[in-house]
Amino acid sequence: MTNFLDHLTSVPDFPVPGVTFRDISPLLASAQAFADAIGAMKELCSQHAFSHLAGIESRGFIFGSALAVACERGFVMVRKPGKLPTKTISESYGLEYGSDRLEIEEGLLPAGASVILVDDVLATGGTLIATARLMARAGATVAGAVCLLDIGALDGKRRLQEAGIGVKTLLT
Ligand code: IMP
Repeated sequence: MTNFLDHLTSVPDFPVPGVTFRDISPLLASAQAFADAIGAMKELCSQHAFSHLAGIESRGFIFGSALAVACERGFVMVRKPGKLPTKTISESYGLEYGSDRLEIEEGLLPAGASVILVDDVLATGGTLIATARLMARAGATVAGAVCLLDIGALDGKRRLQEAGIGVKTLLT
């Protein structure tokens, strides 16, 4: 089994001075590491009952869509503002560096949908908490959240637990 940490790099002062960015690109570039990561994240998903996976732009699309195929579930894009062609529901959120807004297409999720949120990295938890609010407004239940990496020092897992969202990650 792949040691996933061997396939992640740390980039100092990116995207702004003082932030160390964890780069997942080497993991994606390794067929074995990427396949093993999807297999292990699928195991985390299988601990929940769920109908859809929601991937957060942009690296959440990579893991979320691969997981949706592996788990045989539908995939929903959670996008940055202005990218979706139809009427949207949107939520603002704070990031480790800056702030932004997330959107989904209105009416995309069927009544009773139960969704697992997917992203590459959990930092402060703000992105996943905003996405959970988005799902609630869309009438969907959040079954949980799955990420590759939790940057433990930023305390995102605790914030998510306080918000009632169970998050599972492959690595901390
Ligand atoms: P949070 O909202 O503070 O938890 O930040 C998580 C979001 O920011 C995710 O969408 C990540 O893709 C992105 N992010 C934050 N820090 C990193 C990092 O070090 N590497 C890759 N993505 C990051």
